[in-house]
Amino acid sequence: MVTAKAWALKKHFEGFPKPSDFDLKTIELPKLKEGGKWKLLLESVFLSIDPYMRLYSRMDMKEGDIMPGTQVARIVESKNPAFTVGTFVVANSGWRTHFISDGKGLQLLPPAWPESLPRSLALGAVGMPGLTAYFGLLEVCKIKPGETVLVNAAAGAVGSLVGQIAKILDCKVVGCAGSDPKVAYLKKIGFDEAFNYKTVTSLDEALSNASPDGYDCFFDNVGGEFSSVAINHMKKYGRIAVCGSISQYNDSVPQKGPYIQIPMILKELQMEGFIVYRWHKRREEGLKVLLKWIVEGKLKYHEQVTEGFKNMPAAFIGMLKGENLGKAVVKV
Ligand code: NDP
Repeated sequence: MVTAKAWALKKHFEGFPKPSDFDLKTIELPKLKEGGKWKLLLESVFLSIDPYMRLYSRMDMKEGDIMPGTQVARIVESKNPAFTVGTFVVANSGWRTHFISDGKGLQLLPPAWPESLPRSLALGAVGMPGLTAYFGLLEVCKIKPGETVLVNAAAGAVGSLVGQIAKILDCKVVGCAGSDPKVAYLKKIGFDEAFNYKTVTSLDEALSNASPDGYDCFFDNVGGEFSSVAINHMKKYGRIAVCGSISQYNDSVPQKGPYIQIPMILKELQMEGFIVYRWHKRREEGLKVLLKWIVEGKLKYHEQVTEGFKNMPAAFIGMLKGENLGKAVVKV
């Protein structure tokens, strides 16, 4: 018998999540039986920390539910010949140290995964955030060489890849982030312009200075006030990919902002929200390209690795506060 640890939502978050909103549970897992439904026992090795967990909690969770999320997990026992013991997979089993599975929905890491590459990247640059950046830029922004792209939360999991992919595709890239070390990182990985949105005296001026001609594409991870200012800096026929709105996820009372219709009309903009799973059928194609760019050194990655399953809530709260550079993950 294996005893799993799992983090549950003890109390619905009010505003910013706090440690007392989480509950660490122990769960006895049943033994795998010959001919039974559950054919696999897995242990989580890396767990992903993502902003959507905050958004999802208020829409789809009740108190007592296990926190949602994906992990890279190792198969430790198998009664399914399709999965051998020791294989690593990406699963969507929430904040748990161990779990059982019937094998459905488990995704193998892309073939030709180099030994030298951390498997945690399957949760980041060669995983869902990488695909978000890739398809968001190609299919929603429809970027073309020579265009100017703006991205916010630029030093995070998605944003840092958006900027680099746009550079690979010969665009000019402007990024902003919430600390000076993050801005220095953006310059190091090739952003043309980067600034700290928390310390600039005027966001309006900073956006003008970074690209006096304006922006063809805006990959928006933040929403709220930032977006209300940025929309006025779009070029005529500009495209806005609404990827996330993290500035609003902790709001108990919805924010009210300037309305967007006038700049949308006058600049004839296109604005499109998207969820990365729209391209689930093209997952392998996207991962293959991302892995290739990583191996060639064209795409740099950084991970914020928190050690210890007990620190899941702290890593989650830290990410919402902007403590992560690159992808936030927890190593069990
Ligand atoms: P990040 O790694 O970027 O981490 C979140 C970052 O957001 C923080 O580090 C912080 O960086 C920034 N942030 C937090 N609060 C605020 C705020 N109030 N205003 C501005 N910035 C803030 O996370 P991801 O890359 O995983 O996700 C980025 C965005 O993309 C999120 O909005 C997420 O929901 C969205 N997303 C959407 C997907 C889709 O399919 N549509 C898929 C994946 C992600 P800083 O220090 O710079 O403030």
